[in-house]
Amino acid sequence: MSYVKEVMDTVIKRNPNEPEFHQAVKEVLSSLEPVIEKHPEYAEAGVLERMTEPERMIMFRVPWVDDKGKIMVNRGFRVQFNSAIGPYKGGLRFHPSVNLSIVKFLGFEQILKNSLTGLPIGGGKGGSDFDPKGKSDAEVMRFCQSFMTELSKYIGADIDVPAGDIGVGSREIGYLFGMYKRLKNSYEGVLTGKGLEYGGSLVRTEATGYGLVYFMDELIRANGKSFKGAKVVISGSGNVAIYAHQKVTELGGTVIAMSDSDGFIYDPKGVDLNTIKIVKEKERKRIKECTLNNKSTQYYEGCSNIWDIKCDIALPCATQNEIDENAAKKLVKNGCFAVGEGANMPCTIEAIDVFLKNGVLFGPAKAANAGGVATSALEMSQNSMRYSWSFEEVDLRLKNIMVNIYNKASQAAIEYGVSGNLVVGANIAGFIKVADAMVAQGIV
Ligand code: NDP
Repeated sequence: MSYVKEVMDTVIKRNPNEPEFHQAVKEVLSSLEPVIEKHPEYAEAGVLERMTEPERMIMFRVPWVDDKGKIMVNRGFRVQFNSAIGPYKGGLRFHPSVNLSIVKFLGFEQILKNSLTGLPIGGGKGGSDFDPKGKSDAEVMRFCQSFMTELSKYIGADIDVPAGDIGVGSREIGYLFGMYKRLKNSYEGVLTGKGLEYGGSLVRTEATGYGLVYFMDELIRANGKSFKGAKVVISGSGNVAIYAHQKVTELGGTVIAMSDSDGFIYDPKGVDLNTIKIVKEKERKRIKECTLNNKSTQYYEGCSNIWDIKCDIALPCATQNEIDENAAKKLVKNGCFAVGEGANMPCTIEAIDVFLKNGVLFGPAKAANAGGVATSALEMSQNSMRYSWSFEEVDLRLKNIMVNIYNKASQAAIEYGVSGNLVVGANIAGFIKVADAMVAQGIV
């Protein structure tokens, strides 16, 4: 049995009932066969066995009291996956679907993504099954304070630096940071995505969406196409989706549909960004509300049918496994020529196969959405220097990082004989740096 297959079997046996984690590991390991063949030292040093087992997993009770005085209990997670090239870094997700499998798949992906940015950050992820939707600010604050009371024992500016993800935006980061500071009596860059008044970086809010479009623009232009005049469908209407919309529009594309977990809106003239920002960012309401002042905008119940819409470019920016094989086939049939993963693992393995077999230009998440964590690392640098860069400076660094990631992934694909396959290219390029660091540091 091959080394890779042996490790995959162990991962499945050791982690039963963790389908998302298996999926993420399988996607990576299956592309690493040629690297392992070329570098026997990785198998000798047990790199794959060690990389697929988190260095540390923390699970904890998060008790809090709601506005009616009722005691609520949620579960908190932090998976510190790999610190070979830097302190653990990765977001916190607050969503009812969060469980160990989800946090582990995200943490595992984060190792290679962070490596691809070229910055010194290891991989980690965390969160809770708490749902901030429908909660008052006071409830969210009490939850965050309870969550941080436990998490603060395990994180620090040089140890583990969490950030936002689904359900964790600037409001939650503010409450978490305030509680950490109070508990530790220490003002440090322990979280990223902070407000600009207290150590945040310009462009962090926009970074994942902008970075996704910078990456896809590089890929699309290298293949003789352009965002200009393209019809673009973006799923989700959160942080990543909103700023992807903004950059697509700047580059001359038209975003014709967006969604939330209830349904999607379609507007052939282009979904109005300002309305989306007001409804989703400010008022925290449902996307349905976006039709109220806009006659050409139609609302459809159910979010998965968004992929039936005919488009040139699709940017899934909501959640994992939102594009399955059937949805992928529909996109191909309707003439979609590029797909960029803004969300983490939004396409199933079968869907990715459909895209690659049909010559769709495909930007995999760990490369295409790395702009968020890259800018988080820039926030860490600014915090360490006690200095802040201008918007233009950070934006330029972000753009250069995304272009570099594209070049690294496409060169690795060429080197390993799968030119144009950025899934394999990104996995290999991200893996080698971490694997070399692990070999150099001995069996730890
Ligand atoms: P937000 O919470 O800001 O927005 C998430 C959006 O996706 C919302 O519109 C939400 O709808 C929708 N959504 C969430 N869960 C589901 C679901 N199960 N089915 C359908 N729609 C859903 O999160 P982000 O924009 O920050 O994150 C989106 C994705 O991007 C995630 O996969 C995240 O891991 C990834 N990502 C985020 C980064 C960041 O910097 N924020 C960095 C890299 C990746 P509703 O409003 O109804 O909940």
